[in-house]
Amino acid sequence: MHTIHFESDIPVRYTPDLTVIGAGPGGIAAAVSAARQGINTLLLDAHTMPGGMSTAARVPIFMPYSDGIRILCGGFGEEAILRLHDYSSSLGFDSAESIDAEHLKLVYEDMLMESGVHVLYESRLAKVQMDGTRIESIIVTAPDGLFAVKSRIFIDGTGNGTVAAWAGAPFEFGAPDGDVMPSTLCSLWTGFDWTTYQKGGLHNHGEKAMLDLLEQAFNSGELSQRDFHNTGIFRISQYTAAANISHEFNVNPSSAESITAALITGRKRLKEYERFYRQYIPGFANAQIIDSGSLLGCREGRRILGDYVLTRKDFDARRDFPDEIGRYNFAADIHPSHPGRTAIEEHKKHFHESCMKRGESYGIPYRILLPRNVKNLLTCGRCVSCDRDVFASIRVIPGCYITGQAAGIASAIALENGNDDPRKIHIPDLRSKLMHLGVYMH
Ligand SMILES: Cc1cc2nc3c(=O)[nH]c(=O)nc-3n(C[C@H](O)[C@H](O)[C@H](O)COP(=O)(O)OP(=O)(O)OC[C@H]3O[C@@H](n4cnc5c(N)ncnc54)[C@H](O)[C@@H]3O)c2cc1C
Repeated sequence: MHTIHFESDIPVRYTPDLTVIGAGPGGIAAAVSAARQGINTLLLDAHTMPGGMSTAARVPIFMPYSDGIRILCGGFGEEAILRLHDYSSSLGFDSAESIDAEHLKLVYEDMLMESGVHVLYESRLAKVQMDGTRIESIIVTAPDGLFAVKSRIFIDGTGNGTVAAWAGAPFEFGAPDGDVMPSTLCSLWTGFDWTTYQKGGLHNHGEKAMLDLLEQAFNSGELSQRDFHNTGIFRISQYTAAANISHEFNVNPSSAESITAALITGRKRLKEYERFYRQYIPGFANAQIIDSGSLLGCREGRRILGDYVLTRKDFDARRDFPDEIGRYNFAADIHPSHPGRTAIEEHKKHFHESCMKRGESYGIPYRILLPRNVKNLLTCGRCVSCDRDVFASIRVIPGCYITGQAAGIASAIALENGNDDPRKIHIPDLRSKLMHLGVYMH
C-alpha cells in the first residue's frame, strides 16, 4: 500500500491519573468506580453519548443480573439498573429488565457527573504511543483537532479491545475456522398493540409458528435473507418497543468499510421487517420503526489475551478463583454465523446446554483484565481475556458492569499506592473493596 509519513506537534491537553477509553457499560463502570475512590479520571468516547451498545446501539434488555438468589452485578450494575427503573416507572412503565435508552443515558450521565468523572464525547482514539511496554500517551482526534493524553494508568473500554491491540497485546477474534457472530442493527418501534401481540401467540420468536411464518415470508420474497434467528421485540416503555431482529453476517468490527456496508443494508432490511410485522404479526398492524441504532450492534470483537484466559472448562466447572472479582451466569449465546433453519436449531441446543441452574455461576479472575505485554493497562467489558464460549456469556451488559467496576477499583488501589502497574496490587484489598460495594464472590 502507498504510504505517507506524518509528523506533527500535538498539544498534551489532559494529564489525569486514569484515562478510560470507551464509555460503554464496561468503561462507565470503570470510570465511575475509580472516581468514587477519589481518582482524577478522564473518560473519552468516539460517539455522542454514554452507553455504547447499551444505548447508542439500542440493545433492548438486560441479560440476567441475578442467579435467582443473589444479584451478580452488585455495586455499579445494581445501582444503574435501579436508577433506570426509577426513571422508567415514573412514566408509568414498570420493568426492571427493559432498556429505555434515553433514560439509561441520563442514568449514566447522572452517575458520571456525581462522581466527578471528566467526560469527553466525539473524542476518538487515533494512536497509542508506547515507551517500551508502557503506554506513554494516547493520541485522540476530536472536533478541535488532534491532542494527546498522558496518564499513569489506562483502561480499554472500547468493546473491541482497540487500545490493547494497538499497544501490542495479543488477541483472538471469532472461531478458529473464521466464524464470527453476526451483527444486528437494533431498532425502536411504536404504534403496536402490546396486549394483542402477547395474546397472539407469536411473541415467542423461537416457536414453530413464528419460524413457519418467517419461512412463508422468505419464500414469497418479502424477507430477502433466510434468517430464522429472530431474537425478538421487547416493550421498553408505555408506547415504545425495541427490536433485536435481523442479522448482518460476516461483519468485521475493525473495518469502517465493513461496518458501513452493514449499516446501509441493515437499515434497508428493517423496512422489510416492518412490512413483515405489520402484515403477519397480531398487534403490529400499525407499528412503525421510529429509529435505528446510531451504532451498529457488533456482537463479536477482539478477545484480548491476558494473564489468564477464562475457558468453557472453567465455566462448566463453575470454578472459583483466588483472585475472583465477581461471578456471572449467562449462557454461552453464540449467534450462528450463517442464516438458515439448521443453524438456529444448533444454536438453541448449544445455548440450552450451557444454561446455568438457579444459584449457579462461574468465577471471574482479576487476571483476565490484565493484557499480556502491556504494563499500565487494564481491559474491561466484552474484550476481556476468555475463550469464545465464555465471551458469549460475559459480553452482555451485567457482565461488562462486573469487569468494569473491578478494573476501576483495581486502578484506584494501584494509584493510591503510588504505583502505575495494576499487576502489583494486593489482591485481598481489591476483593475486600469489591465485597464492600456489594459484589458477590466466593
Ligand atoms: C445486537 C446486540 C444485541 C445485544 N443484546 C443484548 C441484550 O439483550 N442484553 C445484554 O445484556 N447485552 C446485549 N448485548 C451485549 C452488550 O450490549 C455489549 O456486549 C456490551 O454493551 C459491551 O459493553 P462494552 O462496554 O464492552 O462495549 P460497548 O458497549 O461496545 O461500548 C464501547 C464504547 O467505546 C467507544 N469506542 C470504541 N472505539 C473507540 C475509540 N477508538 N475511541 C473512543 N471510543 C471508542 C464506542 O463509541 C462505545 O461507546 C448485545 C450486543 C449486541 C451487539
